[in-house]
Order: sequence, then structure tokens, then C-alpha cells
Amino acid sequence: MSALVVDGLTVAFGRFRALDALSLAVDPGEVRAVIGPNGAGKTTLLDVISGITKPMSGRVMLGDRLDLTRISEAAIARAGVRRKFQKPSVFPALTVRENLAIGCGPDLGPGPRAARIAAVLGEIGLGARAAVPAGSLAHGEKQWLEIGMVLAAEPRLLLLDEPVAGLSDAETQRTAELIGRLRRPDRAILVIEHDMGFVEAIADKVTVLHEGRTLYEGGMRGAREDARVIEVFLGR
Ligand code: ADP
Repeated sequence: MSALVVDGLTVAFGRFRALDALSLAVDPGEVRAVIGPNGAGKTTLLDVISGITKPMSGRVMLGDRLDLTRISEAAIARAGVRRKFQKPSVFPALTVRENLAIGCGPDLGPGPRAARIAAVLGEIGLGARAAVPAGSLAHGEKQWLEIGMVLAAEPRLLLLDEPVAGLSDAETQRTAELIGRLRRPDRAILVIEHDMGFVEAIADKVTVLHEGRTLYEGGMRGAREDARVIEVFLGR
């Protein structure tokens, strides 16, 4: 069984098709990167999976039962799909720990919440910064905190929107290590990213989108050698 199956997904804005009968499947435990030139449909894909956009046709199955195109954004989040948007949006006046507590959601008791926060602090490498206001963190640290906030909800599908945009080389490296630590058999991760070195470091497979369709799917090495992929990225 796949963690996520996108099946024949079409999203139209007027006569223009941002996604054109797109299909892909992500395995449980997989880290998949979605790459492609601007306008390829990457953001639209994440918008449909997270329920912000409803498609004209096609399905998005989480596991083998739940069609995400038929339920609300809130129900999709409750089903364990969590998205980290490109721009960090932490609560600056609250501490790192308090931000993570918000990420845990309102239903967790104090004991389990403290345990989950401790675990996430370890995963994101911000244990020493737990009592610091989030507003005083460096840009990279804010990105990690926000990844932590979505992790605190224990997602089974984690959607990351350009997690290393604007980060230094060292911060990018640390983010790659962080994503490596997040791998779990029961958690799939889907990442949109432009930094190809980063993609190669984290992804099991890449899906190259072009004009709302899959141009290539497979290893990053193969993508670098694929004539159609090269042509699209060079803009010819
Ligand atoms: P990417 O994330 O790969 O850069 P997008 O998914 O943002 O691509 O966009 C795909 C195409 O759909 C683009 O040509 C974009 O202009 C168009 N598009 C996206 N959202 C809308 C919208 N709400 N209305 C009209 N066109 C849109």
C-alpha cells in the first residue's frame, strides 16, 4: 500500500491546466522531492493535497481509504497531513517550547505533551534554545522550529514547501540532516525544493513536474542525466 496516491489530478484555472491528469505514488517512509521550473504546478499539487484547492477531476488517496479531495482542509489536517509553508510563521513572543506546545494541539495531556516536546526538541536540535523567544532565533532556527511545530502533531504525511530557501550552506546541510532524522516507516515526506544538492541529499526519489505533468520520476542522478529534464531546466 502507498502512503499517498495522486491519481489523474487535474486543476484548471480558466482554460489553463496547472495540473494535467497528474498521477504519482509515494511509499510509506519515503522522502519524495517534487522539482520543476517555476509554474510547473508544484505549489498547486501541495495545495490540493492539503485541501486549499479542490481539483476539477482526479483523486488524492491517503493510505487506501481516504480521498482527500472529498474532505475539508481541517479534516485533512486531522487525518495527519501537515504542511510547513515556505515562510516561517512562528509566534515570536512565545518561547521555542511554547511554540512546540501549540504544535501538539489542544487534546494532549500535560505529561504526553511534555514528552513529545522533548522528543521534537531533540529531533530539530533546538534543545539548548527551548526557553528562548522564537522571535530571537536565526532564520534557519525558525525554519527548524516550524518543522518541529508540524512534527509535534505527529503527521503521517509531512509537506514541506522550500525548506531551505534563504538558508546558508551550513543551515542547508543541517536541514538535510534533520530531514534524515525524521524518516520513519509510518511517515512519508513530500518536499518542494529548488536546491538540487539538497534534493539529492534527502530524497529517495524525485518527481520532475513540467506543465502540470510528470516529466521524470526516479533517482536524482538519473534526473541530472535525463535529456528532457536538462532541456526544461535550461529553458530551451
Ligand atoms: P510552481 O509552484 O511549480 O511554481 P504553481 O503551482 O504555483 O507552480 O503554478 C502553476 C501554474 O498555475 C502557474 O502558471 C500559475 O500562474 C498558475 N496558477 C496558480 N494558481 C493560480 C490561480 N489561483 N489562478 C490562476 N492561475 C494560477
